[in-house]
Amino acid sequence: MAFIQRIIPGICKIQLSMPFRMDHVNVYLLEGSPLTLVDTGPMMEGVEEDLTGALRQLGHEPSHLERIVLTHTHPDHMGLAARLKEASGAELLCHRLAAPKVTDYRGAVMEEMEELLRLSRMLGLPPDLMRLNQEMMDQWLEVAGSTRADRLLEGGELLAGDPFALKVIYTPGHSLDHIVLSLPDYRLLVTGDLLLDKITPNPDIYPGEEGEMLSGLPDFLQSITGLMDMPVIQALPGHGNCISDFRGRILDILTHHEQRKRYIVANLRGREMTILAMGLDLIQFVQAEMSPSNIFLAMREVFGHLVILEEEEEVIREVREGTWFYHVE
Ligand SMILES: [Zn+2]
Repeated sequence: MAFIQRIIPGICKIQLSMPFRMDHVNVYLLEGSPLTLVDTGPMMEGVEEDLTGALRQLGHEPSHLERIVLTHTHPDHMGLAARLKEASGAELLCHRLAAPKVTDYRGAVMEEMEELLRLSRMLGLPPDLMRLNQEMMDQWLEVAGSTRADRLLEGGELLAGDPFALKVIYTPGHSLDHIVLSLPDYRLLVTGDLLLDKITPNPDIYPGEEGEMLSGLPDFLQSITGLMDMPVIQALPGHGNCISDFRGRILDILTHHEQRKRYIVANLRGREMTILAMGLDLIQFVQAEMSPSNIFLAMREVFGHLVILEEEEEVIREVREGTWFYHVE
């Protein structure tokens, strides 16, 4: 099913259903010149038909698309890019760091998973649990195709368009290759997964250059703080409803993370814990289901806070036999 919502004349939100825990994704059609689609939905039967149906309902064909911009390379956002590009010859734009995944989605994701498997010891994770995660990730491997990007973005570019010119802003955190698109003349901001109305996006973890593990959370907090003073009357997110209280939503997320950080410090008092142990505690604390995917999400969040707390010298990390243990003084 696709739901179409006209945001302003010429800008439509198309909500596409998908059979995942997150059961839909939003893509945006800008009916100007060039005819532009921001994000695509996953490459799955049903989704492509729904998107085609929505485009037709609006008087277009997939082959009419002239430009596709990707906010980031998670498969629910970029999955159909290859097929749409093939159908239309549209110019494909994404951040420079998105290029490896756009060009060879499967290869890049496999490489990332290998690297994370190697890092699993630091987290305190038994390899079995890591493999379970890998099995879950396998389904994501099927839902995005590989193609070629025509223009790589850095952030700061103004993409010409009549009447919808787009300003590119680089906003890493949820992923390293994430951008948002501002429509300055309309005070709209297409936010991808950086800013959502109800949920706080999970920060990425990525392997660093010398085998260390990096968290996207500090980047994420910086990215949303950097947008706070923009005169946005409506934010257009990759999932859920549009956000009219833009600044308020950013403040809520910052407060949420501050509270989580305080919880983590309090929970560490008088003991030493691995990232896994803290992730399990967090799941209990928020009364979520103890599922493998929740364990991974919780660990990613915990790790993000620990990176910040270690930087602020509030927690101390000790490495024993490759596993990271944390305590407070
Ligand atoms: Zn995402």
